[in-house]
Amino acid sequence: MSMETMRSVLKKYFRFSDFRPYQREVIEKIIEKRDCLVVMATGSGKSLCYQVPPLVVKKTGIVVSPLISLMRDQVMALKQRGIKAEYLGSAQKDFTVHSKAEHGQFDILFMTPEKACTVPSSFWSNLLKAGISLFAVDEAHCISEWGHDFRVEYKHLDKLREVLLDVPFVGLTATATEKYSSFALAGRAALGLVVRYFLFDLNLYWYNNSRRTSYTVYFRVQYDIIGSLKLNYPFVTIGSVDRTNLFYGVKLLNRGQSFIDELVREISKEVTNGGSTIIYCTTIKDVEQIFKSFAEAGIEAGMYHGQMNGKAREESHRLFVRDELQVMVATIAFGMGIDKPNIRQVIHYGCPKSLESYYQESGRCGRDGIASVCWLYYTRSDFAKADFYCGEVKSEKQRKAIMESLLAAERYCVLTTCRRKFLLEYFGEKFPADRCGNCDNCKISRKERDMSREAFLLMACIHSCRGGWGLNMPIDVLRGSRSKKILDVQFDKLPLHGLGKNYPANWWKALGYQLISQAYAYHSHDLWSNSSANASGKFELCRAIAFTVAMS
Ligand code: ADP
Ligand code: ZN
Repeated sequence: MSMETMRSVLKKYFRFSDFRPYQREVIEKIIEKRDCLVVMATGSGKSLCYQVPPLVVKKTGIVVSPLISLMRDQVMALKQRGIKAEYLGSAQKDFTVHSKAEHGQFDILFMTPEKACTVPSSFWSNLLKAGISLFAVDEAHCISEWGHDFRVEYKHLDKLREVLLDVPFVGLTATATEKYSSFALAGRAALGLVVRYFLFDLNLYWYNNSRRTSYTVYFRVQYDIIGSLKLNYPFVTIGSVDRTNLFYGVKLLNRGQSFIDELVREISKEVTNGGSTIIYCTTIKDVEQIFKSFAEAGIEAGMYHGQMNGKAREESHRLFVRDELQVMVATIAFGMGIDKPNIRQVIHYGCPKSLESYYQESGRCGRDGIASVCWLYYTRSDFAKADFYCGEVKSEKQRKAIMESLLAAERYCVLTTCRRKFLLEYFGEKFPADRCGNCDNCKISRKERDMSREAFLLMACIHSCRGGWGLNMPIDVLRGSRSKKILDVQFDKLPLHGLGKNYPANWWKALGYQLISQAYAYHSHDLWSNSSANASGKFELCRAIAFTVAMS
C-alpha cells in the first residue's frame, strides 16, 4: 500500500513520474522507521528523501538545515507545491508558527541546529504526541570536524536522539569524503570495506548508471556522521559523485585589468548563447572589479557578497534565478540552495580553499544534465592562505584538515593528468579509465617525458641548501648564479652549482611546483605561526623518486 501512496504523493505534489532508484529505497526505509545516511551528488535529488515520507505518513518531518536563506527558499518552493512547510530559526519570533508547529500542523518543519537544540522540551513532547515522521539533518558533513565545513552547533544534535526515541534520523550530504594521501588509499579502502561490511547494511549505488560498485572510501566523515547523530544500524546509500556532463579545466590567472577584460570577453560568448554563468571570486574586491568590467563591456551582471545588505542580495539572487540576469559575480556567500537548472558555466577566479568547496560550487552548473563547463583560474598566492583559512581555529585536528584540503586543491591545479579521475579518486571513488575525455588535460595532447634527472637535480639542490630557502635559492644555485646572497652562504661551492643552466628559472619553478603537487617535496610551512602566510618559506623532501612528467 505504501508504494502506491508514495507514487501518488510524488505525482500529486511534485509532478514527477518516477523516483530515482535510491530515493525509493531511502523513503521506504524512513517509513519503516529505519535510520539512514544518504551521500549523493549535488543535484541528485536528496531533498525528496525527506520531503515525501511526511506526506505519506501524514506526520510532521523535521529538517535541520544550516542556513536561514536555504530554508526560506525551500519553504517557498514547498508551499508553491501545496505542502504545508515552515521554518523556525532563532530570528523567527512568530509565536503562531511555533504553536502550530508544536501541534503538528506542518508537513515539513525546517529548523536551524541552534533552534532544534534550544526549544523547550515541551515543544518536543507536544510534537511527539502529534507524531514525527522523521528527523533529517541536511548538509550533515557539517557535524564532522574532518568535514570541510564544520559547525559547532551541529555537534549538539545528538542530544535529541534520547528525546526523539522512536523517530528515524536521517543524515544527508553531498560531501562526506575521506582525506587521504593517495598512497595510503589501498590500505584504507580495504579496512573501510571490512569494517563497513560488518557494521552496516552495505547498500552502494552508482547513481549515474545504477551499477553496483564494490567499494568507496568515504569513511572518516561518514563514520563521524553516523557516530555523532547516533544513527542506529543505518541504511547507508552512497552514489557516484561523478557529474559526467561537466567539463573541468584549470588555467593560470594573471591578476590585472587586461586579464579580466579578456575573461569577460570569453564569458560573454557563452552569455550571448543564452547560458547563465556564475563567477566565483575569493575576495569582495575581485567581485567588484569584475562586476565593473562587465558593466563596461555592456553586459548586465548581478553581484552578490556578504557585505551587501540583505535586500540587495535577495534582489540579485532573484533576478539571476529568474533568468533576468545571466551573469552573477559573487563570493561563495552566493551558494547553498541555488536550484537553477540551466547554469552553463561556473568560473572560479582564484582557487577555493578545498576541493570539496570547489566540487560543490562548480557542481551548481549543469543540473539539467546538459553539457556545461567549469573553469578554475588560480595563482600561486592562492595556496599561501593557510593562516588565513585557519583564522581562529584552535583544534589541531581541524587545522590539519584545513592544511590538507588546501594542499589537495593545489595538486588539482597543477595536475597534468585527467582532472575528473583525480577529483573522483579524491572523493574515494574509483574511476575505471585513465582519461575521461571531458577535461582540459584529456582534450589537450601532451608529450610525456622522463624528467628523473632534472627532478633529482632540483631535489638534491633543495637538500644541499638545507631546506629553509623556498624554491628561488636552489634554482639560482642550479642556474649558476653568483649573486651576493649565494656568495655570502658559499652556495657557489656546492657541487650542483651551475648544473641546471640549460633551463630558464621559470622552467625550474614549474618543475618545482609539480614536485610539490605530487608530494615529492612539500612546504614545511609553519601552520601555527600567525605571521603573514609564506607557504614557500621552507622545503623538505619526502623521498627519492623516478619522475615522469607530462609537459605541454
Ligand atoms: P540535492 O539536494 O541532492 O542537491 P535536489 O533535491 O535539489 O538535489 O534536486 C535536484 C533536482 O532534481 C531538482 O530540480 C529536483 O526537482 C529534481 N528531482 C529530484 N527528484 C526527482 C525525480 N524523482 N524525478 C525528476 N526530477 C527530480
Ligand atoms: Zn579527463
